[in-house]
Amino acid sequence: MAETHDAFLVLNAGSSSIKYAVYGADLKQILHGQVDRIGLDPQYHGGAKHIDVPVADNATHAKILDWLLTHIAGLSDNLRIIGAGHRVVHGGQDFAAPARVTDEVIAKLRTLAPLAPGHQPHNLAGIEAVARRWPDIPQVACFDTAFHRTQPRIAQLFAIPRSFSDDGVLRYGFHGLSYHYISTQLPHHLDKPNGKVIVAHLGNGASMCAMQNMKSVATTMGYTALDGLVMGRRCGELDPGVIFHMLRDRGMSVAEIEDTLGTKSGLMGVSDISSDMRDLLASDSPAAAEAVDLFVYQACKKIGALAASMGGVGSIVFTGGIGENSAAIRARILQGCAWLGADIDDTANTAGKSRITTADSRLSAFVIPTDEEGIIAGETQRLVAG
Ligand code: ADP
Repeated sequence: MAETHDAFLVLNAGSSSIKYAVYGADLKQILHGQVDRIGLDPQYHGGAKHIDVPVADNATHAKILDWLLTHIAGLSDNLRIIGAGHRVVHGGQDFAAPARVTDEVIAKLRTLAPLAPGHQPHNLAGIEAVARRWPDIPQVACFDTAFHRTQPRIAQLFAIPRSFSDDGVLRYGFHGLSYHYISTQLPHHLDKPNGKVIVAHLGNGASMCAMQNMKSVATTMGYTALDGLVMGRRCGELDPGVIFHMLRDRGMSVAEIEDTLGTKSGLMGVSDISSDMRDLLASDSPAAAEAVDLFVYQACKKIGALAASMGGVGSIVFTGGIGENSAAIRARILQGCAWLGADIDDTANTAGKSRITTADSRLSAFVIPTDEEGIIAGETQRLVAG
């Protein structure tokens, strides 16, 4: 009989997709895959396998999760899942680090669902599904907000009446698992990893984090993941007066406004063509060019703001789908940072090297691929062992 090996399951359960990965005790990834098109016609992709998930098109997340976990269990006889780690978008004010899942933790996380209605319930559904499939294994929740709990209070406050901040209406910030991973990589790339660093996570969702001593001191996302940069489909920074206009003058409902700002705005809304940066860069439409211009403009503006929040910046790190893959966007953002001392090394940038500024550049810039699942696996192992 084949020897069995201990393994950790990582789940990232979102609204329209569920991603998974399995790691060995040495934290090497063994398997990964995902179900996407949830709510339409769920499809599974894993390795070379692409199949329709055998559930009704309108199946709940719970049903799809039950199928997926059974499928994962059947993928390999010689793996024994001994712990599961989950991406959980909101940890509120209480969770500054990953937590072992208990009934009390779940109850707390449930109260945060209104702060992230599109994500939190699905994250919790993943935890419940694992508890149904493997009732005895320990589970760990890893939060997108936790890395930002080190922000000073002043960076978290909105200038609205105190009663709101007392109730937790604060800038939380997101993409924390990505920033946590990048913080672990800074010492491998930067001469001064403890200095003033801005990390730009540019993907479909996009944000930036100002780090000092490898800790978050400011970030562009706020109470929700809508604030900050121009994103694939989210608006980013917006004058709240626009919302009153939508409500009062256009008769839009709250749900319509949420949908407009959360799924019909950003690159998609401005270009009217696509939310995908590759499509826009390949397009000759003036609206596509304007959407890209706005993306770059806002990125440069936020770098300026985050640099000001720290009283300077020594390095910029690019990550996420756009940050890791688009030399053109990196070049345009760094050209906008010439005033901060950025001198881009075009050859290194085009070749996708780690350091993409010249040796003399006052502001150094790097490309570091992120690994949110890897961070979850490591934290899960740490907490399970502990
Ligand atoms: P998510 O936030 O959903 O995890 P990703 O981090 O995968 O998304 O980023 C997706 C974005 O990355 C898309 O806008 C996509 O067009 C962009 N992207 C991926 N590869 C390239 C590339 N070579 N050039 C420009 N953009 C790219």
